[in-house]
Amino acid sequence: MKAEIIAVGTELLLGQVVNTNATFLSEELASLGIEVYYHSVVGDNPKRLEELVTLAENRSDLIVFCGGLGPTEDDLTKQIVAQHVGQELVRDEAGYEQMLTFFKNGQRFMTENNLRQTLVFKDGTALPNATGLAIGIFYRTATAAYLLLPGPPSELKPMFIQQARPILQTEFSSEEQLISRVLRFYGIGESALVTELADLIDSQKNPTVAPYAKPNEVTLRLTVKTTDESAGQAKLDELEQQIQARVGEYFYGYGEHTSLAEVVVDMLKEKKKTVTAAESLTAGLFQATLGDISGVSRVFSGGYVTYAKETKSKMLGINEDLLTAYGTVSKECAEAMALAAQAKEKADYALSFTGVAGPDELENQRPGTVWIALATNEGVKSKCYHFSRDRAYIRHSAVMAGLDLLRKELLR
Ligand code: ATP
Ligand code: MG
Repeated sequence: MKAEIIAVGTELLLGQVVNTNATFLSEELASLGIEVYYHSVVGDNPKRLEELVTLAENRSDLIVFCGGLGPTEDDLTKQIVAQHVGQELVRDEAGYEQMLTFFKNGQRFMTENNLRQTLVFKDGTALPNATGLAIGIFYRTATAAYLLLPGPPSELKPMFIQQARPILQTEFSSEEQLISRVLRFYGIGESALVTELADLIDSQKNPTVAPYAKPNEVTLRLTVKTTDESAGQAKLDELEQQIQARVGEYFYGYGEHTSLAEVVVDMLKEKKKTVTAAESLTAGLFQATLGDISGVSRVFSGGYVTYAKETKSKMLGINEDLLTAYGTVSKECAEAMALAAQAKEKADYALSFTGVAGPDELENQRPGTVWIALATNEGVKSKCYHFSRDRAYIRHSAVMAGLDLLRKELLR
């Protein structure tokens, strides 16, 4: 079972948009046991797209297209592929109804062009779009299968997970299935993790262990090929136990799409505890990270962004003498910020972040120097970190470190 991904869009060729859809689709296909052999990008050009389809058909069983399902003339993926495989384009009635409702309730007017988005192959399967208007298509011939998905990741991802994945699973299921388990780690680098697990990674053939690094964390994907689900799970359990015995202290959760923040919010919910924050160099990034998680209001009611020195006094009531004596990038300032936020917000936990995001020094301290304090109902503790790389990475590193401090506290 060989697959390839064709991303369509001149904006990709011009470098204006990064082809993140290919990354997402590759991971998803791999988890289905479908091997991806090629990634291509082609502009909104009928001739070159057609040439690529011909090439792809000769070497792949499944061709996944993304982009070019929109309403405009340059969105031509559907038209070209339909013509190529000899399929008539017909209106998808459910998609058409959805479009009428959308335009009736909205501010915009429907144009003739919009109807293009509801066209599907006569003998294909229409894939409804939960977050947009362009209908996706799955179509299979004796020699190849075609999956057409919209370009915007906010439409492509839900369509793939909810509509396409189940189809691919049934259409291409074999006796053997691949079962994966993803383990997430914080506080250990990829090379250190790989060194700890070197023998396991090298010797394991089934299951396999594949590490990969994400910003400030490392992921391990364990994959087993099996004909028996429970036997496969048992093999994964056994391998995971070996891994946990070595690097379990850095493990924080399971799953490709869970984050450290989600794990922490779940723990807070479970323990019925609340959190707040006072943020200097992160300027709200910690709180925005919490805000990304639905249902977070049960554990987070708000907090403080106190970027300037004066604001730390004004909003949190921190003594100016303390700030003058120790500086804002100090244990004393971090602890005072956390305690003040905790008291004002009456929260069980308060984190504070103060430090140097860079690129310039602050108070004679190097960029990346960050104090993080955690106030609990038992007092306050703090830690000094030295992060590296650029401003964005330093701020992200600080947020992750704060989350991990809180997670460890909640584990106690
Ligand atoms: P639309 O209805 O928005 O026109 P479409 O299906 O025609 O959708 P495109 O026009 O190709 O898709 O792309 C729309 C937007 O989706 C792009 O401007 C870009 O932001 C995003 N996008 C497209 N292709 C990709 C890709 N391969 N990876 C990441 N983002 C993409
Ligand atoms: Mg478009």
